[in-house]
Amino acid sequence: MSQRRSARNVSYVDAEAVARALSPSYPVYLLRPHQLAANARAFLDRFSGSVLYAVKCNPHPQVLRALYDAGIRHFDTASLPEIAQVSEAYPDARTYFMHPVKGRAVIRTAYEVYGVRHFVIDHASELEKVLEETRKGLPEELVVIVRLTTPPAAGTLYHLAAKFGCSESEAVALLRQARTAGCRVGLAFHVGSQCRTPGAYGTALDICGRVAAEAKVELACLDVGGGFPADYVEMVAPPLELYLDEVTRGLTANGFDGVEVFCEPGRALVASGCSLLIQVQLRKNDQLYVNDGIYGSLSEMVDAGIRLPVRLVRPDGPTPSAEERDFIVNGPTCDSLDVLPQRFRLPADVREGDWIEVDQIGAYSNALATHFNGFYPETFVVVEDAPLARGQ
Ligand SMILES: *Cc1c(COP(=O)(O)O)cnc(C)c1O
Repeated sequence: MSQRRSARNVSYVDAEAVARALSPSYPVYLLRPHQLAANARAFLDRFSGSVLYAVKCNPHPQVLRALYDAGIRHFDTASLPEIAQVSEAYPDARTYFMHPVKGRAVIRTAYEVYGVRHFVIDHASELEKVLEETRKGLPEELVVIVRLTTPPAAGTLYHLAAKFGCSESEAVALLRQARTAGCRVGLAFHVGSQCRTPGAYGTALDICGRVAAEAKVELACLDVGGGFPADYVEMVAPPLELYLDEVTRGLTANGFDGVEVFCEPGRALVASGCSLLIQVQLRKNDQLYVNDGIYGSLSEMVDAGIRLPVRLVRPDGPTPSAEERDFIVNGPTCDSLDVLPQRFRLPADVREGDWIEVDQIGAYSNALATHFNGFYPETFVVVEDAPLARGQ
């Protein structure tokens, strides 16, 4: 570990410095460890329970390192590779298996090799699998967390409850079954990613309250999931305090004050921790051809319709024109679908060889990138500047 920490500590002031030093014709992620640390602190200082980073959002080793260094010790993992990555890099960290559907051998390995004790389920067959595959241990060491479905909240980009989660009556039965088997039990939900209505957490906690009252079992933990929003263009996130206050209110209102609580932020921890430096490779009138696109770092522009702040980066050469224009932006692959769904507003004289900094790209970017057509964004450098202005 000390070796990793003393590895080349190169960092750049900002995107201009990177463009000048590397002149990159490939996309470069500009990582801001200081911003990741600030985001982590915001959760750690204000959330009353354990903050689990949702690894799927951005599993890059340097992102995990920055969050770990800032004090994150709990990780929401959903596969054996994620569990292995975290456990092997950070032996003192704890991983939680938050995927409601798991292979049998995967459950067994997570339990026996990596010491995972928290498993999410949303169906009786999955509970049976978890009990069978962890039979070597003591049932009371196991924490079975039942994932509840919650009503769609206004303004979320993905309604995760459509795929996972069980009804209130199913949850009551599952809690009793797991308790009867001797396990400790908990409840979990996910209100949906980029949730812009803090009240959704209160609504979900009321559902948990009803389920707990009906099941009449003691809860070992309550997991309020992820979904906390990041800032995008024309989509400024409500302050984190509003969400955490709503969680506190919902916990108290439903008699959960003594229960251990978890949250599982992904996007809100990492979105502002990274921007992306791409290069213009051809201009045809109002069309730009750039070196990253929907099969690389920018798929969320399509899947979630988010709009990212952008700015021209031209470290040398003429001062960019003050006049601005909207440009159609084409990705690098030969696929005709590889066109960004929103235009970029840039100086009217943008030209081949210029760079563009695309900000707020730390979440669901490199994690979703494909190798399609031979393009794969994988270069990360550290920068010291602040993210572009909120909602710019
Ligand atoms: C994806 C996911 C998260 C993280 O969600 P964000 O919206 O990025 O905060 C947390 N928990 C679970 C179970 C998830 O699947």
